[in-house]
Amino acid sequence: MKGIGVSPGISIGKAFVMKEKQAEITGVLLVDKAEILLEIERFELAVSRSVNEIETIKANTQLSLLDEDLAILETQIELLTDPQIKADVTEKIEADKKNANDALIEVIGSFVHLFESMEDEYMRARSADIKDAGNRIIKHLNEPGKEGTPKFEPDTIIIAEDISPSDTITLDIKHIIGFATMTGSKTSHTAIIAKSKGIPAVVGCGEELGAIMNNDIVILDGTEGLVHINPSQKIIDSYTLKRNAYRHELGKLKALKNKPAITTDGNIITLSANISAVNDMPDIFDNGAEGVGLLRTELLFMDRDSFPTENEQFEFYKSIALQSKSKPVIVRTIDIGGDKHLPYFNLPSELNPFLGYRAIRICLDRKDLFITQLKAILRASVFGDLRIMFPMISNVQEIRSAKNILAEAKAELLNDNIAFNAEIKAGIMIEIPSAAITADILAKEVDFFSIGTNDLCQYTLAVDRMNEKVSHLYDPFNPGVLRLIHNAIEQGHKHNIHVGMCGEMASDPAATLLLLGMGLNEFSMSAASIPIVKNIIINNSITKAKEIYKNVKEMHSSENITAYLREVLQ
Ligand code: PEP
Ligand code: MG
Repeated sequence: MKGIGVSPGISIGKAFVMKEKQAEITGVLLVDKAEILLEIERFELAVSRSVNEIETIKANTQLSLLDEDLAILETQIELLTDPQIKADVTEKIEADKKNANDALIEVIGSFVHLFESMEDEYMRARSADIKDAGNRIIKHLNEPGKEGTPKFEPDTIIIAEDISPSDTITLDIKHIIGFATMTGSKTSHTAIIAKSKGIPAVVGCGEELGAIMNNDIVILDGTEGLVHINPSQKIIDSYTLKRNAYRHELGKLKALKNKPAITTDGNIITLSANISAVNDMPDIFDNGAEGVGLLRTELLFMDRDSFPTENEQFEFYKSIALQSKSKPVIVRTIDIGGDKHLPYFNLPSELNPFLGYRAIRICLDRKDLFITQLKAILRASVFGDLRIMFPMISNVQEIRSAKNILAEAKAELLNDNIAFNAEIKAGIMIEIPSAAITADILAKEVDFFSIGTNDLCQYTLAVDRMNEKVSHLYDPFNPGVLRLIHNAIEQGHKHNIHVGMCGEMASDPAATLLLLGMGLNEFSMSAASIPIVKNIIINNSITKAKEIYKNVKEMHSSENITAYLREVLQ
């Protein structure tokens, strides 16, 4: 079967078919007041069991949670305790004498229908979360006491229609060696989680995947996007060889960890890691990172029910600084809004959240929050080479305002005799087209640029990065995006500032030589991707990379560009 390979590698194992048990309306009506009261109690118990389940998952996995994971769990808790859902279910039980199962199916069904028919893609996508919450309550209603997720045998390959948002976190991942799903795209939850955990995955295989039964032998090729069911011994043998070669190659790449990333003609390139938690630190050095190119600070703000105090934030940045081996750590100030919400911060609901009240816009509006974060970073800057980065900059005035507030934060610390690095470097993310186009203006104001291709791509191409329907248009190799990237690098260099990239494109091997040829100084990515990119850098010259960029500049379509880059990489 052919699907989309979204997480590379080969797995050979036994299938575990995950079927969403479809809850069914029973039609059983309640007979008297006593039954009604009992049924409401049963519903409330199922809700509180569901909330407990999520809280336990949160507590057990706290340290390994990604920003995306936390947002999913917070949303689940919000939905499980949603007063409207509770009121509607209770009313159906009381007024219509429906049993809790039927009442809940109807209420969730109408909410799902409502969200699925919304114009806004973000809101439409929330219907998956509502279904997920509803199914969880139903599970606890109908199978009380049967909590938790299935335990798997070693070498399990999960086969499913799709993996629900919370399943991506709750699955006991220890024995899972692969995922194959009927639906999904490169940006689906399954893809993101599998990639971040290094588990091979193939999504979008279609209905045919339904033919797989529990315990069938499955070979999953996440690099080529292939799934084999009950293959012959000959195929198993050939894939076993392939898998071992892949692992061996990966091991060899990891062995490059202490080798500096220098091109064959002597240009030193910085390879750094994107992280969001203290416990990401050991892993970055294991993979040969030379610092942190992006510390996303949102997780620190998301995993709680009120804003972290200056001291709490200070402790977090300090722990990272202390583990940084004096290498640079770029701390990005909070990038909330868009798809990242804080349960305790009432962000207005907006028609276009990605174009709305987010990131630096919130910080400049809520100086109290911003100055607290800046002071905490400044205080921690005596324990390592911390640098500050402002996200979502669209014009020069935002940089000046942010720097004025940074100066105020410094003045307050000075006044209180608290030590900090007065020379701390301040830079910006180039992730809005206006910033990339006016890079010459902005470069005069800052110490460095970091190109955020994840957002730059969505804003340049007018493609919502979360929307599966238009994901084929989400394309960093579009000549328009490439011109913006090049302009940011060129203007940054004209003004003698360091230019890095921390968007996903930095980890794409197909892009490495192109970006090198454009002159990029630093590539920042998830730690696991570093060895592959390093291997390309140390085996190529800048002269060759420049030649490649020159050729790409002449090409008109992303298809031609990517085909050419793949060929060069071979
Ligand atoms: C980006 O936009 O490329 C980026 C690195 O930031 P985030 O993915 O956190 O928006
Ligand atoms: Mg961004």
